Amino acid sequence: MRRISIFGATGSVGTNGVDLIRRAGGAEAFHVVALTAGRNIDRLARMARELRAEIAVTADEALLGDLRARLEGSGVEAAAGPSALIEAAARPADWVLSAIVGAAGLAPGLTALAQGGVLALANKESLVCAGPLMRAAAARSSAKILPVDSEHSAIFQALGSETRDSVKHVTITASGGAFRDWPLERLEAATVAEASTHPNWAMGQRITIDSASMFNKAMEVIETHEFFGLEPERIKVLVHPESIIHAMVTHVDGGTIAHLGVPDMRHAIGYALNWPERAPLPVAALDLARIGSLSFREPDEIRWPALRLAREVMAAGGMAGAVFNAAKEQALDDFIAQRIGFAQMAPRVEAALSTLSGRAGFADAPADLETVLHWDRIARQEAAA
Ligand code: NAD
Ligand code: MG
Repeated sequence: MRRISIFGATGSVGTNGVDLIRRAGGAEAFHVVALTAGRNIDRLARMARELRAEIAVTADEALLGDLRARLEGSGVEAAAGPSALIEAAARPADWVLSAIVGAAGLAPGLTALAQGGVLALANKESLVCAGPLMRAAAARSSAKILPVDSEHSAIFQALGSETRDSVKHVTITASGGAFRDWPLERLEAATVAEASTHPNWAMGQRITIDSASMFNKAMEVIETHEFFGLEPERIKVLVHPESIIHAMVTHVDGGTIAHLGVPDMRHAIGYALNWPERAPLPVAALDLARIGSLSFREPDEIRWPALRLAREVMAAGGMAGAVFNAAKEQALDDFIAQRIGFAQMAPRVEAALSTLSGRAGFADAPADLETVLHWDRIARQEAAA
């Protein structure tokens, strides 16, 4: 039986992953090693019982007793805290879904990569903060990283067996998020509730707000650079309000191969689950006659300064990705807590990058996890309101 683990099982991606596992036969068809959550132990315990997981882990040590109580008599082990997450990631598995949100997903992801197997990666933050470490860990154990982000799954599929040399450029699309059509002067007063709605995708709150600010797309540009080894000049962003085309690969011979589909994460998760084969998935087929037309526009870097910052991060290299991600996470925390306005997030991230770029070691490629976590910490301090 295939051994699987899901990190961040209770989130938006994780719940979709569990849904696919359930539909594919659940505990009868898979040996579920670990399921983990931040603080939603009710959902975690329900999932772990249903899928007969070896172990359920909450990131919050204070919740261990409650988790244990919910798992009593089930035969599922309970554990808590960051070190328990690492221990769970060290248990051998053939397929691991990395769906924790934020830099918290990096250490479990690196640990899982060291065991070999497939890492189905939704946690783009780990590639943004530590792409070279992730690649090195995969190379050492012959693990395979498969993209779960919809745009990157789309590029992966559109590329097929072609090599990088045949690619002129790739284009990832962006819906434009909640504020695509707002007058610029209104952005200053945008509320958390307004930023937490998405025109097309149902996702966790953090990535939804990151879609409104385009920090999500900025992260995805860096993710494309790290994952596919493409230079920044070969990565384009196109605003496409309908979110039907997820990415396009334009070849040197002038042909462009696009990947289309309804916005449903179960396609990208299921593709990674079934890879290298394809299997039926509970994803609606595309009906272009009903949709009628698709539209596109150039992204506006005044409205979305995060896109310019992504290019600066790629040009700087070294610890810029770790600083960018951590400063963005801090600015997002401060926006959600209403300590800063929506339009103040990008300037804070830019200021943190600018200040920390002068520090010794900033330009060096990440040597190890500790170095990345060190820069993550100081970037959060620097960006904090
Ligand atoms: P979410 O907030 O819905 O879920 C996050 C999961 O991580 C939950 O299980 C939560 O309990 C857990 N978690 C939160 N903080 C944690 C911590 N400090 N330690 C351990 N666990 C913690 O997020 P999501 O929308 O499912 O996104 C997950 C990841 O997938 C993100 O990296 C996101 O960028 C990426 N992603 C999401 C989507 C989507 O459709 N939601 C699409 C593409 C990529
Ligand atoms: Mg995406």
